Amino acid sequence: MPPVPGIETAAVDSFAPLLDAARLAVLRASEVCRLVQSSLDRVRAITKDDDSPVTVADFAAQAVVAMTLRERLGNFRLIAEESSAFLRDSAHASHLEAALLAARRSWPDATADAMLDAIDLGNSPESSGTAVSASAPTHVGFWTLDPIDGTKGFLRGHQYAVCLAYIVGSDPVVAALGCPNLPADGGASLQANDPVGCLYLATQSRADGAVTRTGCRLDSMEMHGFGPAEPVRRTPRPAAALPVLVESFEPSHSRREATSSIMQRLIDRLAGTLGLPTGLHECPIVRIDSQCKYAVVARGQAHVYLRLPSKRGYVEKIWDHASGALIASQAGCIVSDARGVPLDFSCGKELIRNRGIVVAPPDLHAGVIDAIAELGMSEVAPSR
Ligand code: AMP
Ligand code: MG
Repeated sequence: MPPVPGIETAAVDSFAPLLDAARLAVLRASEVCRLVQSSLDRVRAITKDDDSPVTVADFAAQAVVAMTLRERLGNFRLIAEESSAFLRDSAHASHLEAALLAARRSWPDATADAMLDAIDLGNSPESSGTAVSASAPTHVGFWTLDPIDGTKGFLRGHQYAVCLAYIVGSDPVVAALGCPNLPADGGASLQANDPVGCLYLATQSRADGAVTRTGCRLDSMEMHGFGPAEPVRRTPRPAAALPVLVESFEPSHSRREATSSIMQRLIDRLAGTLGLPTGLHECPIVRIDSQCKYAVVARGQAHVYLRLPSKRGYVEKIWDHASGALIASQAGCIVSDARGVPLDFSCGKELIRNRGIVVAPPDLHAGVIDAIAELGMSEVAPSR
């Protein structure tokens, strides 16, 4: 494939063309999702082999992202969650028709064949992990996409996110996180949907091997007129405030009794600093779907995102974390697994070298990792 513009150079803004492409792709896909969510009768949820749901919006959003990357960047490599197999089955013609109708919101002249082919641009051979090995850390990277992260939230009419990231070596270096129902105001309630939503963007620029922090930006989510971008500033936790935990709305996606014990232990450790007696404090908890959780920690609305998958052998997927992880880390948070090990995105579709997820600002992260170790929970969800 031809070199991706700027990616091999040392310029601080070398990721700018990729970020622009990602921003447009995610805005367009978010618009598609918003259209489908507002007419839920046409969502047509399907249950996949692994029991997870997918909707016509997942397919349409993936096609729109892939088509936009092609339009902006020419060739690219993409590992995305969906494939076109279901829609190509003639028994599912009504789903194909509904997905095409949704895709046309952003891609007016889409045909069924063009949409199906665009969906399959998301199944690059890198999915197997062979071409993204740690032994080739300087190669040109690949994109990863979750067209709708939090599909269960999407179906319930709650939070969801369109998540696109570009990975080089082991790390995401460009991220766009579309949160169509998330209020931009970090002081607003997370229980009600916002009519505008927000889009988080981040890049990690490299100069002579050093990492330059360029921060995140927040855009008003308008399809054709991008609102003014502004830096995301993490609101510091007030000195005497208890840390707020954010975790999955779906009980089966994390171990709530474990996260509650970890937070209790963390609060006990902080009690001296906060001037509180030990053991009496219930941790404030926010439960929302999708990588919106990363954004909520990045902006300081919550302070710890914990995910300890409950299903034995469950391994986290790269598209469920790449975009949010870069946004949280560029906002000054530490992102790791439950042992404190940085997430390693270099092994194909799955985070096979990691167990669980911990996101927190530097003043809390080590305390969370210590609490997990003290409770003997560091080896959560062992991989196969
Ligand atoms: P969330 O909205 O944060 O609960 O995460 C949604 C994501 O959880 C989906 O995209 C799935 O890939 C993923 N998922 C599905 N099953 C599990 C599980 N048992 N443990 C953890 N994550 C899961
Ligand atoms: Mg997902």
